[in-house]
Amino acid sequence: MTKQRQLILDIIRSSTDHMTAEEIFFEAKQIQSSIAVGTVYRNLGLMAEAEEIKRLSMPNAPDRFDKTTRPHEHIICEHCGKLSDLPAFNLKDYIEKQTGVEILGYDLNLRYVCDDCKKIEA
Ligand SMILES: [Zn+2]
Ligand SMILES: [Zn+2]
Repeated sequence: MTKQRQLILDIIRSSTDHMTAEEIFFEAKQIQSSIAVGTVYRNLGLMAEAEEIKRLSMPNAPDRFDKTTRPHEHIICEHCGKLSDLPAFNLKDYIEKQTGVEILGYDLNLRYVCDDCKKIEA
């Protein structure tokens, strides 16, 4: 594994959030100022392919990167765009058991209003 790839992986693994490539690049640059944005994008692609991280496709927004590779779902706040993990719940298994249809993949966008935004509204 190259030094840059290790650096990017460390950033994602130490983050509590689901970062965009731009955010990852920004952090990587603080540590290694010579790193190029193309290097970050290329390594993110390779790591997602190798299933070291998970790429999350967002509707009308940049992809996010997730250190948690086991199956899990996300909820997105409609107000601030914050993305959170849902507690472990295997939807694919659930649908397959309920319907007998083998699910190859799906794109699910669960929208809600997060606690912080609820406070502002109240
Ligand atoms: Zn919010
Ligand atoms: Zn996640």
